[in-house]
Amino acid sequence: MNYLNLNKEEANREKARLNAEFEKYKARSLKLDMSRGKPGKDQLDITMGMLDVIANDTDCKSENGFDCRNYGILDGIPEAKRLFAELLGIKESRIIVAGNSSLNLMYDTVARSMLYGVNGSTPWAKLDKVKFLCPAPGYDRHFAICESLGIEMIPVAMTNTGPDMDMVEKYVATDAAIKGIWCVPKFSNPCGVVYSDDTVRRFASLKPAAKDFRIYWDNAYAVHDFDVDNQIKLLDIFEEAEKCGNLDMINYFASTSKISFPGSGVAIMASSEQNIAQIEKVMTVQTIGYDKINMMRHVKYFKNADGILEHMRKHAQIIKPKFDIVLETLEKELDGTNIANWNSPKGGYFISLDVLSGCAKRAYELVSELGVTLTKAGATFPYGKDPFDRNIRIAPTFPPNEELKLASEILCLCVKIAALEKLYK
Ligand code: PMP
Repeated sequence: MNYLNLNKEEANREKARLNAEFEKYKARSLKLDMSRGKPGKDQLDITMGMLDVIANDTDCKSENGFDCRNYGILDGIPEAKRLFAELLGIKESRIIVAGNSSLNLMYDTVARSMLYGVNGSTPWAKLDKVKFLCPAPGYDRHFAICESLGIEMIPVAMTNTGPDMDMVEKYVATDAAIKGIWCVPKFSNPCGVVYSDDTVRRFASLKPAAKDFRIYWDNAYAVHDFDVDNQIKLLDIFEEAEKCGNLDMINYFASTSKISFPGSGVAIMASSEQNIAQIEKVMTVQTIGYDKINMMRHVKYFKNADGILEHMRKHAQIIKPKFDIVLETLEKELDGTNIANWNSPKGGYFISLDVLSGCAKRAYELVSELGVTLTKAGATFPYGKDPFDRNIRIAPTFPPNEELKLASEILCLCVKIAALEKLYK
């Protein structure tokens, strides 16, 4: 049914039908959660073997003879560096293996720039204004870092090849107050977009007005393809940046949060050797060293990049059917209504749903009333302000399949009710 051209009578009949369904769901007092990109319990269970690989003091010996139980080694044990280097195609000399959270590393990197500057530049906290470009819809916690530290956010539109690069190039070249841009280059949160080769090349060859401008390349979903044997290839940002003499411009982040355990994974930061030296100078004041036993656990359990990919196959077997449940429901309920668009990602953790403009907040309100928790409407935009009030982020991984199906049906119902309310007052 095309919702855009109903006559009054048809609209009223459809409204009545949907409201009756709404009341039925309400009577069930449901409690369903599709809000955060968290692995489900079955995903967490597949990594339990990792907890058994360290049994004695010998297991805690690094290949360089270092005892992982003790203080020391700020930048991570060599075998962990090698594992990430192999997995992500980054030189070991550019990698710091750190604690359990890449978001923590991102926050620290921005905070460090605020307090100490970037390779000799004025600390950002001493400047009148600092701005970041924020491709949107994007990751709410990136935006939260900026908001918390008083950095002005400029939204940049997302396309299906990455951020609108005409806008990015123009902003970066003309405004020296712009010091950074947030990028999730593969299976972006929430749009599921993989940056095209052209987009990566244009990023690598940016000519920023600010010397201390940095690209925050958050490759959180680097190996999170649903079809692990046909991985979508992302161009190597370091290689491209090096060609353009822009190596220092890249701050790269990743973690095993969605590979092993989000609560107990291993995160890395990678950057040019020059940047890493500056970062370590400050980091060494923050910590004597990160959790090396956990690094060792990951190395012993996965062994090498192939071990990780093999593991990702198991995740995909669990995750892909969950995405299918949501996508099939969206198709069944919303196809042909002309009130919604969504992506069909090939990996990652999210589905991005665009509803009729002006209806996302209302749909969110309605699903909340039925006991379904979604990421708050607006959260995918800087300051929580979706200019079109239309984007909803769906995180299919956490709920068990039955609950997921129910939550998806409820979401579609509420999207329809919100649209009819808007179109036919
Ligand atoms: N970056 C992106 C794009 C994410 O979606 C997430 C998790 N939702 C993170 C970073 C968080 O990573 P970590 O657990 O390593 O802090």
